[in-house]
Amino acid sequence: MARISVVVPIYNEETCLRELHRRLTEVDESIDDDIECLFVDDGSADRSREIIRELAEADERVRYIFLSRNFGAEAALTAGIDHADGDAVVLIDADLQDPPEVIPEMIDLWREGNDIVYAQRRSRKGERFTKRFSAWLFYRIIRHLSGVNIPVDTGYFRLMDRRVVLEVRRCREIHRFVRGLVAWTGFRQTALRYDRDERHAGETKFTPIKMTVLAMDAVLGFSGLPLRVSVVLGLFACLFSVLIFAGLLIARIWQGAPMSGYALLASAIFLIGGVQLLMLGVLGEYIDRIYRQEQARPIYIAAEKSSALPSGPEGAAPVATSR
Ligand code: UDP
Ligand code: MG
Repeated sequence: MARISVVVPIYNEETCLRELHRRLTEVDESIDDDIECLFVDDGSADRSREIIRELAEADERVRYIFLSRNFGAEAALTAGIDHADGDAVVLIDADLQDPPEVIPEMIDLWREGNDIVYAQRRSRKGERFTKRFSAWLFYRIIRHLSGVNIPVDTGYFRLMDRRVVLEVRRCREIHRFVRGLVAWTGFRQTALRYDRDERHAGETKFTPIKMTVLAMDAVLGFSGLPLRVSVVLGLFACLFSVLIFAGLLIARIWQGAPMSGYALLASAIFLIGGVQLLMLGVLGEYIDRIYRQEQARPIYIAAEKSSALPSGPEGAAPVATSR
């Protein structure tokens, strides 16, 4: 029998909390494993905190963290991941768009040896076309840019083995994209397809601005590409400059045409511009390195070690837990 911690980020979800707790309790009663809830209130201004306190008083499986203000869902999830001590940790939204009834299937896949079971949306209900399209595009862009196998159409809803949780905890970057970090740890990952429901009640807490900031954190946190754009532009500008100059030389030597001052000038301008862009790219490359160093993610993650080896300097590699 394992202990499963369910981490829920909450921002003004007073209308969803009781129903969420009821359905989680139902799931808990339908399986042998123990489910405990870790509600992380992200600075709600409504009655969410009161309700969480009441739930915690009535049910010892409910625990909570209240953040001092609204830090954003990524920070709330991080607080939850830092404190959840189950054998596996499930991240789930508070609004019941992710049905808790999927959790037993996740646990089964975990028992089969998967370290990360992420729930991938087969369909999503009750969301506008703009939201669906921007989400669709976002997942594909970040997947291409990141160099990490970040699954598409997958929100926070996922189960992680304890050893994944321990590794994610070691990533302390401030601008964070938790889904990316979880995928980045590696281990054995598998998808579980599910149908996403409508929000139980209330409105989406992700304003377009919050979504844009998150998209930036995702792209910048996992890709140095924006810093390299200027290298490509610079190369093109230099190439263009050389082409103009070569054209002028050919016309002069073979046809005896006079050198056009304008064309020479254009060639020089492209050369200067190109060299500057290239140097910007070189600077960008150094900044990228400083930034990656500053993120201070673990350089490697060991999945298994022979027992004779001493534990590494960066803390013991976690050994498989009881599933
Ligand atoms: N959330 C949070 N802090 C925020 C915004 C959202 O903790 O600043 C929580 C929210 O309460 C919910 C989850 O993150 O449990 C996902 O938010 P939402 O359902 O509004 O996003 P959507 O499903 O529309 O993308
Ligand atoms: Mg939602």
